[in-house]
Amino acid sequence: MAARQKQQRGEVRLNEPMSKHTSWRVGGPAETFFVPSSIEDLALFLHDLHADIPVLWFGAGSNLLVRDGGIPGVVISATRILKDLDRVENYAVRAGAGLACTQLARQCVRWNIGPSEFFAGIPGTVGGALAMNAGAHGGETWERVESLRTIDRSGVINERAPGEYSVGYRSVTGPGNEWFIEATFRFDPDFSPSVAAMKEMLERRKKTQPLGLPSCGSVFRNPPGDHAARLIEAAGLKGFTIGGAEVSDKHANFIINRDGATAADIEKLIQYVRQTVIEKHGIELIHEVRIVGEVAQ
Ligand SMILES: Cc1cc2nc3c(=O)[nH]c(=O)nc-3n(C[C@H](O)[C@H](O)[C@H](O)COP(=O)(O)OP(=O)(O)OC[C@H]3O[C@@H](n4cnc5c(N)ncnc54)[C@H](O)[C@@H]3O)c2cc1C
Repeated sequence: MAARQKQQRGEVRLNEPMSKHTSWRVGGPAETFFVPSSIEDLALFLHDLHADIPVLWFGAGSNLLVRDGGIPGVVISATRILKDLDRVENYAVRAGAGLACTQLARQCVRWNIGPSEFFAGIPGTVGGALAMNAGAHGGETWERVESLRTIDRSGVINERAPGEYSVGYRSVTGPGNEWFIEATFRFDPDFSPSVAAMKEMLERRKKTQPLGLPSCGSVFRNPPGDHAARLIEAAGLKGFTIGGAEVSDKHANFIINRDGATAADIEKLIQYVRQTVIEKHGIELIHEVRIVGEVAQ
């Protein structure tokens, strides 16, 4: 009986097209795409996985360029689980890594806890926001992190403190070979968030970003004291295309999948933009999006 209880119960999909999951709507197949049914199931899966098999954790795919050759090894998608959100104290909430940032924002605003409104504009998961130190409208994910729980490569759950991580602008490094499963955020007791402010932020995005089209948001980090979008626009690149990929003419730091782009089109366009900005402005832009997987043969 004990052995039966330990059987794997999650969903394993072989050769799962990542284009179904990424916000750019591109990407070759994941060799194995695992959707755990519970945290115990996830722990068991990791525990049993051979140490040589690479693992990529997948949030909502809103900051990932998956190459056309796909992803060898295992992709873990835990957004069906890890979705809890609890108010643990007056101004603190505990959120699962699979929860959508938009839901975190909306519920915190309902609870009158903030500043939390900026999360509403980030179309990823709490885990992705932790991995990227996602931010918007002056707010950043890690400003609010009080404690964390992670799961490691052998399925062991760890309690972590923010001091164990080195956190910067869209960059987070910490204990290797483990992934976030939960975070506690502490907000400001003197702050009253507002639905109107949240709506205003979302409206501003609609006006300035090509939100109806497949993208990954801003492709490049802003260099110190400047804006990547300004540099790209001043280099005359708005509307420039390679294959089906296009530099948005609404927001120059967005690359959109205009017309059946491949990941290779997007990656070439990223390189082209970087090179052109170096030639025109002498500044090397660093991409914020994560590029993963293999080039198609
Ligand atoms: C229209 C649009 C607007 C955007 N606006 C913003 C914005 O205003 N500000 C901003 O910062 N970003 C923005 N983004 C980018 C993106 O939404 C964020 O980077 C987001 O935090 C990514 O979360 P995700 O769940 O989609 O992560 P994914 O894209 O799935 O993964 C991104 C990286 O995080 C890692 N990761 C994911 N989950 C975990 C986990 N649980 N543990 C460890 N690692 C993990 C992945 O392995 C990968 O390396 C925007 C994107 C789009 C499409």
